[in-house]
Amino acid sequence: VSRFEGITMAPPDPILGVSEAFKADNHELKLNLGVGAYRTEELQPYVLNVVKKADKLLLEKGENREYLPIEGLAAFNKVTAQLLFGADKPVIKQQRVATVQGLSGTGSLRLAAALIERYFPGAKVLISSPTWGNHKNIFNDAGVPWSEYRYYDPKTVGLDFEGMIADIKAAPEGSFILLHGCAHNPTGIDPTPEQWEIIADVIQEKNHVPFFDIAYQGFASGSLDADAASVRMFVARGMEVIAAQSYSKNLGLYAERIGAINVVCSSPEAAARVKSQLKRIARPMYSNPPVHGARIVANIVGDSALFNEWNTEMEMMAGRIKNVRHKLFDSLSSKDKSGKDWSFVLKQIGMFSFTGLNKAQCDNMTNKWHVYMTKDGRISLAGLSLAKCEYLADAIIDSYH
Ligand code: PMP
Repeated sequence: VSRFEGITMAPPDPILGVSEAFKADNHELKLNLGVGAYRTEELQPYVLNVVKKADKLLLEKGENREYLPIEGLAAFNKVTAQLLFGADKPVIKQQRVATVQGLSGTGSLRLAAALIERYFPGAKVLISSPTWGNHKNIFNDAGVPWSEYRYYDPKTVGLDFEGMIADIKAAPEGSFILLHGCAHNPTGIDPTPEQWEIIADVIQEKNHVPFFDIAYQGFASGSLDADAASVRMFVARGMEVIAAQSYSKNLGLYAERIGAINVVCSSPEAAARVKSQLKRIARPMYSNPPVHGARIVANIVGDSALFNEWNTEMEMMAGRIKNVRHKLFDSLSSKDKSGKDWSFVLKQIGMFSFTGLNKAQCDNMTNKWHVYMTKDGRISLAGLSLAKCEYLADAIIDSYH
């Protein structure tokens, strides 16, 4: 008898488990809209040309494979903070950001969670309802208490702004407020610039700490600067901010696990101390991060020709998703005779659309139409082609009614 008899079978992951189910389906019309990964119009994975070029240069350089420092590649940490906060901004010049390379967005969030657990015992993290499924796992595993603030309003398939503000106001002073920098996952619903200002007012009044998860910079609108506007506005107010970055989507570096955790502090001394503690957290967890993705990012951002090429490719990817969004809206509007208003599809941004389908309706999407998606009604438009929009519209309309 096994020593591991007491270990029961874990349930499949609600997002990555969808891909497993998709693989097992042999239907020719099957569609995987579960995981958020960019696909071409032919629904194939995409490696950016600029990444291929950077890879080739790296191979030619033939750099060694020695350990990185605990905090990661210095050249990467420098450019990643500049990309997020703006290279010419005072916060960069004053060296008030503690930046540590992380294992993509997830690993970076996990480092920040450990920092909160260690130095702010009992402090709560507020997460949006709903949010990316892994947020709860991350804070649970780090032993950080969390609760939800209202975000999604099913009546309008839009933002419950009043509920959001009321819940942030009601949170104990000094809470950490987790915000999606752009392209909220899973809803695709972002606050307007005016609403962001009010959110910042309330966070400031209550001495909360804004904690940004920004996994889609440049990928949402096609512009790195536009997508970082929310984060930069908070920093420009002189607030201390935490921000976790990911290069999975905007550079297509999913499997390289490259991202960073940034803590904006009110002084360079505080930033140095925070950085030293982030390193202390990382050391026993994984010792030091992988080098390849960090070199790719540092090389692309550090070379103006490659940087421009990256921006062009990002615009192309964001543009394809926008085109699919429009086509889906057109298909839904022209096929559906019930008079339902589908304009929410157009109002959402980024990689996802929140359809408003409930769990039973999602089951119908999968069981009858072979459309694989998470049970919260989220579909990844990055996994959809123009050619498949009509089929998807038929499936959604059938499932709704
Ligand atoms: N945060 C959000 C909101 C995300 O959507 C994702 C990717 N699905 C991540 C973080 C992290 O992804 P990764 O660990 O690949 O960077």
